[in-house]
Amino acid sequence: VIKQNQRNHYKLFESSISENFKEMLQMETELRKAFRENQFDIHYQPQIDIQTEKLIGFEALLRWHHPEKGNIPPGVFIPLAEKTGLIMELGDWVLREACKQNKRWQKKGYPPVKVSVNLSAKQFLQKNLVQRIADILKETGLSPHYLELEITESMAVSNEEFIMDTLHGLRNLGVHVSIDDFGTGYSSLKYLSQFPISKLKIDRLFISDDKKQNQAIVKSIIHMSHSLDMKVIAEGVETKEQLEFLRSQMCDEIQGYYFSKPVHPEEADRWLSQIIK
Ligand code: C2E
Ligand code: MG
Ligand code: MG
Ligand code: MG
Repeated sequence: VIKQNQRNHYKLFESSISENFKEMLQMETELRKAFRENQFDIHYQPQIDIQTEKLIGFEALLRWHHPEKGNIPPGVFIPLAEKTGLIMELGDWVLREACKQNKRWQKKGYPPVKVSVNLSAKQFLQKNLVQRIADILKETGLSPHYLELEITESMAVSNEEFIMDTLHGLRNLGVHVSIDDFGTGYSSLKYLSQFPISKLKIDRLFISDDKKQNQAIVKSIIHMSHSLDMKVIAEGVETKEQLEFLRSQMCDEIQGYYFSKPVHPEEADRWLSQIIK
């Protein structure tokens, strides 16, 4: 009986692997097709200075409009793109597009703002990342000062030396790096004080549920950022109360539905034209 069970168990395991594999191949084909057929675009979410309440930048967020399935959220397709390796091309495309778009806004005469681009672990850990970014900046004509990269805590766990080199390379180039979803990963505080990081981005989780414990965590993150000469931004700010709390704690920047959802580039123009007023 045991043998039988083991065999069945093994069978089940094997078939679920091949199912997953098939699904992945299919997804990869779909992702590549989507990329070829321009089904991706980028939305931009305003980032606001908490004191002046003026626009200071946009986060670039990738969107996939599938012709039959509708919008597929990045939380679904980014992990797949990572698994299949397509993230390299897709990521390069987002970087180039976001830089191009930001340069376009500057050419229109709007006051310059930053654009933040999310990098997946695979992208960040590629050997020639600094050179690639330098090339993209040169090609698009965007000054490095107006590009920011968002990485997550998880990738800082491994390859300490390599990460240090990459971060210094980026800093020398003039590109700033922030830690996204801060507080949910495995940051080592030792690295945090040594890595050239410009900003911590407090995860939405601590903002959305404003119970005492979360507020205490938010306070500590803000305090720690400033002590380490970093800026701090809160993401997922949806209410006036959350905004006021963050302001009272001297948070520097905020991003969230309270001000705006991620929008089309054309709608972003409206935000830009308001800075001048
Ligand atoms: P993220 O970088 O932490 O981006 C913030 C996410 O929170 C976005 O979800 C944004 O739409 C959402 N958000 C912003 N404000 C609010 C709010 O007030 N309330 C709520 N409930 N949500 C808010 P989105 O666009 O679905 O992206 C999810 C994740 O996918 C991103 O999280 C990022 O990790 C990843 N992603 C998106 N675009 C890219 C990309 O171009 N490259 C890479 N590698 N990852 C990306
Ligand atoms: Mg982000
Ligand atoms: Mg985030
Ligand atoms: Mg996230």
